[in-house]
Amino acid sequence: MLLSVIVPCYNEEKSIPLFFQEIEKIRQKMTIEFEYIFINDGSKDQTLPILKDLYNQNNDRVHFLSFSKNFGKEAALYAGLQHAKGDYVTVMDVDLQDPPELLLEMYEKIQSPDIDCVGTRRVTRTGEPIIRSFFAKLFYRIINKIGQTEMVDGARDFRLMTRQMVDSILDLKEYNRFSKGIFTWVGYNTVYLDYENRERIAGETSWSFFQLLSYSFDGIINFSDTLLNLASYIGAISCIGSVIATIFIIVRTMLYNDPTSGWPSLVCIILFIGGLQLLCLGIIGKYIGKIFLETKKRPSYIVKEDENGLLK
Ligand code: UDP
Ligand code: MG
Repeated sequence: MLLSVIVPCYNEEKSIPLFFQEIEKIRQKMTIEFEYIFINDGSKDQTLPILKDLYNQNNDRVHFLSFSKNFGKEAALYAGLQHAKGDYVTVMDVDLQDPPELLLEMYEKIQSPDIDCVGTRRVTRTGEPIIRSFFAKLFYRIINKIGQTEMVDGARDFRLMTRQMVDSILDLKEYNRFSKGIFTWVGYNTVYLDYENRERIAGETSWSFFQLLSYSFDGIINFSDTLLNLASYIGAISCIGSVIATIFIIVRTMLYNDPTSGWPSLVCIILFIGGLQLLCLGIIGKYIGKIFLETKKRPSYIVKEDENGLLK
């Protein structure tokens, strides 16, 4: 039996040795064989040389891929899943925010025939900026209201999956990948282990607040078409409203012979309707943008180099 550990790395020169030390301790406690797949996601620091060293010292179980530029964590995860050969596959951050010791319990749990995936969930968000936690909560509220795919608040990408589930994930060939959604979309029985949030051991998070914001919009757009229907709802409501207003004006003119009035309110209404139209157009534009990217059928990532040297 083989367990594949997929580790995306972006500018993680400080974390990799610490991570490897910790996970090796766990490996020695487990009966299953390990295979590590590190993905260098276009790092600008010493990540690649460090991965090469690691490979040279442990070439029986360490593998690495190096991208031609930064393609993002989603692309790195996808590449890892495609290259994993294990009967079980796990996905871990290299900053030790995903506690390796949980693997022991996860592996025990997944032995049960009716569990296909053991996920992990942060029950606290200590150490995280308050505003970030607030928006994260809001995101999960919105996506679970309007989305067709349930997403678990606090769930990490860190999870242990069976080969069968990984193959199903690989069957989804979309270019715009949003793993949190994909993991739930494929179904299968998932149980979650809870743990307290950890802070990263070294280096810095590579996500700015605005990147996270745009990532969460992506999640909503990739996994829900509810927003597309918004235009029809708003249109219907404003039609009904304008019919009522017309009747009101006709009746008032007939009863009181009211002279023309209300230019300011007219301007407000025109601006309001114009704004709504632009908003709806913007939403449609977002979806068209996704379709545009999807139809180009570009690869999600390009591997420049792996353990066998430069790829031709
Ligand atoms: N990562 C990556 N490509 C990127 C950004 C991040 O492969 O463009 C990796 C990173 O090296 C780490 C994991 O994804 O192993 C999680 O990143 P990070 O810790 O920055 O995210 P956070 O924990 O703050 O959500
Ligand atoms: Mg992290």
